[in-house]
Amino acid sequence: MNITENAKNIIDNCRFCWMCRHVCPIGNATGQERNTARARAFAVSMVVRGSTELSEVADNMYECSLCGACTNNCMTGFDPKVFVEETKTELVLGGLIPDYIRALLEKYMACGNVYGAEVSDEVKALYREDGDVLFLAGTDAVLKAPETVGVALALLEKAGVKAAFTKEQDTGYALKFLTGKTEETRKAAIAFAAVLNKYKTAVVYDPADLAMLLHEYKEWGIEIKAELISFNEYLLSLIEDKKLAVKKGDTVYTLQDHFAYARELDDTESGRKLIEAVGTSRDMLLCGKEANLAGHLIMAEYMPEVIKNVALDRWQNAINMDCKTVVTENPAEYVFLKETCPDGCRVLSVEEMLLENM
Ligand code: SF4
Ligand code: SF4
Repeated sequence: MNITENAKNIIDNCRFCWMCRHVCPIGNATGQERNTARARAFAVSMVVRGSTELSEVADNMYECSLCGACTNNCMTGFDPKVFVEETKTELVLGGLIPDYIRALLEKYMACGNVYGAEVSDEVKALYREDGDVLFLAGTDAVLKAPETVGVALALLEKAGVKAAFTKEQDTGYALKFLTGKTEETRKAAIAFAAVLNKYKTAVVYDPADLAMLLHEYKEWGIEIKAELISFNEYLLSLIEDKKLAVKKGDTVYTLQDHFAYARELDDTESGRKLIEAVGTSRDMLLCGKEANLAGHLIMAEYMPEVIKNVALDRWQNAINMDCKTVVTENPAEYVFLKETCPDGCRVLSVEEMLLENM
């Protein structure tokens, strides 16, 4: 198998300490030891050593959400994202991807998205090319949580922001997740950079997209001239500039930290500052840098029950700390926490939270 020395070193650096065992959201949801960082590394190392076939580890690679919770807990700085992505690329190049992944890629080729979904008329009605900033909602929000797009744009309008919102929403994130850093992913990124570069500023709604724009685009030398700002940071700036007139009440809110904000973007504060602008922040278990996953839209296409259990586990973390109003900062977690919301609890996106305090 053709993986980099860096990926091999990461695999070999594991000390078998098992500190990562309890943090893998997928392992916790399935109860299977194979769904841990250590076991995934062991599986790939067997392939590298020629003890097993590449095709044998395919399912295990697609069962990793790339959330990085294990990395955060690993004394060696172990980062499975590196070898999982490289192994996915090897599977693609060798024609060895599982049929359920092939089906998603075929939908991508046919429809431009892995869900095989059409943009709703309600969302299309929001398209506009001109604006002071570009609002990048991202494919997941547009197709799987379209209500959030309307609410986010309505909030920006209340702040007097003229936001462009166009049909191009694909940063290449889904291709990267399914195939790794392939040439196809890079081409999708180059095409999207051309869209971004028509604007001076882009407000990025989905932190998974923002992390890709800031990290992988840079790694590939793809120039982004637009200033990129996260949705959370942009909302904070609007509140500070008194363009968004929110009122502070006595509601207690709990942030569901998204892993891309918390770990890839090193931002565990902006969501909490937004909460503190309108209420009181109460943390649940596994928050901040320890953020635990609460949903994943692409994985739910091929392992829906597991992803539902991931969200239910997250609710258990919230309920154990008496957290009843959970605030999400990513469309995937909004969708799955809503779907699994227990009686007496509620889920709000950050924009919904601000709107209920205006
Ligand atoms: S925490 Fe790191 S070193 Fe320990 S078992 Fe997990 S991956 Fe290996
Ligand atoms: S990146 Fe996340 S899903 Fe993958 S092994 Fe680590 S904790 Fe588990």
